[in-house]
Amino acid sequence: MVMRFYNTLGRKLEEFKPIKDKEVGMYTCGPTVYYYPHIGNLRAYVFADTLKRALTYNGFKVKHVMNITDVGHLTSDADTGEDKMEAAKKRERKSAWEIAKFYENAFLEDLNHLNLIKPDVLPRATEHIREQIDLVKEIEKNGFAYQTEDGIYFDTSKIPDYGKLALLKIEDLKAGARIEMVEGKRNPTDFALWKFSPKNEKRDMEWEFDLEKDGEKIKIMGFPGWHIECSAMSMKYLGKTFDIHTGGVDHIPIHHTNEIAQSEAAKGVGPAHFWMHNEFLIMKDGKMSKSKGEIVTLQDLMKKGYDPMDYKYLLLASHYRKQLSFTFEALDNAKNTMQRLRNIVLEIKSEDTSKVNEEYKKKFLEAINDDLGTPEALAVMWEMLRDSNLTNEEKYSTLLDFDKVLGLRLKEIKEEKVEVPDEVMKLVNEREDARANKDWAKADELRGKIKEFGYQLNDTADGVKISKE
Ligand SMILES: [Zn+2]
Repeated sequence: MVMRFYNTLGRKLEEFKPIKDKEVGMYTCGPTVYYYPHIGNLRAYVFADTLKRALTYNGFKVKHVMNITDVGHLTSDADTGEDKMEAAKKRERKSAWEIAKFYENAFLEDLNHLNLIKPDVLPRATEHIREQIDLVKEIEKNGFAYQTEDGIYFDTSKIPDYGKLALLKIEDLKAGARIEMVEGKRNPTDFALWKFSPKNEKRDMEWEFDLEKDGEKIKIMGFPGWHIECSAMSMKYLGKTFDIHTGGVDHIPIHHTNEIAQSEAAKGVGPAHFWMHNEFLIMKDGKMSKSKGEIVTLQDLMKKGYDPMDYKYLLLASHYRKQLSFTFEALDNAKNTMQRLRNIVLEIKSEDTSKVNEEYKKKFLEAINDDLGTPEALAVMWEMLRDSNLTNEEKYSTLLDFDKVLGLRLKEIKEEKVEVPDEVMKLVNEREDARANKDWAKADELRGKIKEFGYQLNDTADGVKISKE
């Protein structure tokens, strides 16, 4: 079946055809490991993982690369401000290396909690300095770079259609006051390929770069720009051109635009055929931002008693290209829906998982292959579960098959063993007596009391089931 994706490059839906027959190379811009990811950041990784799962479900063999930015990401996209790692170092009184390691682990834990398949390669920027220096030199040699007091900059005026991904109008950018000009920069859109270390500061992370200055060969300490790392590492692991590049929409105007410019300058071709971007998760008062210090992490949600799958369901219920407003009310709805789904799984759980219903599978495929339509795919799932013509074996088999894409851990759902305190058990028994005597008012009252203890009752054919709320 044909898969179609919305390509930001060209702004249209396109049929997906990989460069190599059944193999897909996919690159995702990974985290800057200077702090915990917030739940808005995590949307990008859930999106990339679902995309990879959908490709695999369609029979493609996916090689997924995601970088770890552990150096070079400045607090401002205009090549000014502090390196985020160095800023974190001052905040936490640890070395930049310790910070990177700590938050990389926190990030990987989040991936695990969200049941995201670990990328095949997770390269760290600091372990690919050689590749980045080589690429900077290649770009320089091809005439697309110049030196300033502060670093080596990319001359964007050398790329005639610079900004095509973002549909940037260079004139607007030049006029825009929001672009801070670094001294020596020739054009407002030029960006740092390599930055020299500040003269009076010893950085934790810096490397030697040899260059020619005033006809003399010198060595100078410095560190890579943020954009060059993604170009160098995607080229190393996926080749100069690969199939899909993903990231959040915020990467379009600068980071991804500059990745394209670097590839074109060094290799004469753009890095990816498909550019796919997920929209933001927004809070009541706008985009969630670390700089404002008001962030919600996955750990925060878990501490409040949410399962990571509740959050994942909330994300999947909305299309990746739509902005999603996060509220705890919406998350509660997702949690209730997941609980309903878990209860159904317990009802239909079967030994035989080979009875996948082909009709529903086709509908499901149509949904996800149409630009990763996860809300429609979930609707197909619920339609299938409600279909009284299907046996439990068919339902369970089909559901597990769908979960290869949804990744909601449906196979792992087990009857929860609930420890019920004696006082609650006494109320449950009293309620059973009331029901036997058809005293419904009293039974309801007792149900209310039990609820106050945080327990929920479910009257089934096999008797009453007690669960924790
Ligand atoms: Zn990137």
